Amino acid sequence: MDNKKLAELLFPHIDKTPDYYEELYPERGLPEGARVTRFAPSPTGYLHIGGLFGALVDILTARASGGVAYLRIEDTDKKREVDDGVSAIISGFDYFGVEFDEGVTGFGTEKGAYGPYTQSKRAEIYQTVAKSLVEKGLAYPCFCSAEELSELREEQEKSGALIRGYFGKWAKCRSLSLEEIEEKLAEGKPWVLRLRSGGSEDKKIVFDDVIRGKIEMPENIIDEVLLKSDGIPTYHFAHACDDHFMRTTHVIRAEEWISSVPKHIELFKACGFKVPKYAHTPQVLKIDEETGDKRKLSKRKDPEAAVGYFVEGGFPKESVLEYLLTLINSNFEDWRRANPRADISEFPFNLKKMSSSGCLFDLVKLSDVSKNVISVMDAHTVYERVAQWAKEFDPEFYEVFTANPEFSEAAVNIDRENPKPRKDIAKWSEVKDYFAYLYKPFYQPDYTLPDNISKADAAAIAQKYLGEFSLADDKEQWFARIKDMCEPLGFTPNVKEYKKNPEGFKGHVGDVSTVIRIALTSRRNTPDLYSIMQLLGEDEIRARLSDALKSFEE
Ligand code: GLU
Repeated sequence: MDNKKLAELLFPHIDKTPDYYEELYPERGLPEGARVTRFAPSPTGYLHIGGLFGALVDILTARASGGVAYLRIEDTDKKREVDDGVSAIISGFDYFGVEFDEGVTGFGTEKGAYGPYTQSKRAEIYQTVAKSLVEKGLAYPCFCSAEELSELREEQEKSGALIRGYFGKWAKCRSLSLEEIEEKLAEGKPWVLRLRSGGSEDKKIVFDDVIRGKIEMPENIIDEVLLKSDGIPTYHFAHACDDHFMRTTHVIRAEEWISSVPKHIELFKACGFKVPKYAHTPQVLKIDEETGDKRKLSKRKDPEAAVGYFVEGGFPKESVLEYLLTLINSNFEDWRRANPRADISEFPFNLKKMSSSGCLFDLVKLSDVSKNVISVMDAHTVYERVAQWAKEFDPEFYEVFTANPEFSEAAVNIDRENPKPRKDIAKWSEVKDYFAYLYKPFYQPDYTLPDNISKADAAAIAQKYLGEFSLADDKEQWFARIKDMCEPLGFTPNVKEYKKNPEGFKGHVGDVSTVIRIALTSRRNTPDLYSIMQLLGEDEIRARLSDALKSFEE
């Protein structure tokens, strides 16, 4: 077979050789040990939480080694693509402040010297490499129709063949002569380009997965499709060409690709490319609510699979990243304890410390992490973040919350900016309800009392407090005043005393405070009541105590 002639016949429009691209995309000249990683999503119009997880691993790996992380858009599968699916991915990353050093930066924009970073713009590169493979006799055109291929599958099933697919004796087009090929081309028959696999069924390949260690698998023997009939590459071929010419050192990707590694190693070698290091990250799992079993987070079933869920819910980006890091590296939590306020970019990330089994994504744990994260934010930041979130997702609350910024900032500052801040808020969408009693349009009085306090006693407390409270008090005086109210009302200011002799009193100072709290906020539990009263102001306090009194007297 005259391979050169065949290559010319198949790719008459290609006038470059791979050497041209070798020069165009030279070795990066980074310091020894620097890692070049990439995140390579398909533009399906949505960023999966597992994608954010993967991108973080890419970026941390690159940063920890002084390397480069880039974003490549893999849009060769037109079926999976949605209009402008890139923007959704980019805006997802923007929200989380995740920035790549190179690659696609927006719809139709990119930065870096190894582009284009969108596969659909790289057809010439793939075809140049494809042409060289044909010249070397390592690839051939296959004219089999969809029907022929399904017949082949059926036959293989019938014969009980252990390995299924287009290979060896099943690969009809593998042995076509140049004349036969010319004839089919002249007839205008569509063709795909296949690898002429040199693999052997009884040989094994071994590779060292950075996360999983040594993995041994049978060699690839399938004549895999490299280019589809429209000249667009398959994932496998694009992976080899792109990761070579973009000079990726570490291919970090989801574990579902492990089984393709033999194919990929064969491809890299066939193309004369150095095989990169592979690291297959664990899947992001959840406990299925119905079955109680672990399963993959699913785009279809689980709203939290899409990062938009966290954006809309108002989880701060720091919380989500912090939580993902606890999943990513087993030593992250120790590091966090030792460095409570450090930025996560300072965390000494190590790919080898990644678990190889699935990571359980647990919304409850995320909420706990988030409460910690929010509790150490200063009031101004919280105010700004709540406002920013509400502007987009709850405009009605935005209007009310931002009408008096000083008031709202003081509200979110209650029990904050101190060594033991309150840890109540996990996401910005909770703030409206959390502080509803501070904003008239959202306040719905509810004077339900705990069982141990009678309405008559509550009325007496509200009545007395109406005549006693003073906003001029400092916090100590404020509390002393409440204590002083206790005895005349039949309560004790001393909790210990109450516990010793519960029959002797109607209750203790805690119960008196609870009544005041309910009267003023309709809650049994709030942040510091003294601060809340300062914010409500004299008139509002009077009005609320009177309202509550009426209700207690009913
Ligand atoms: N486009 C592939 C995917 O979305 C990327 C796999 C890889 O990182 O190589 O699954």
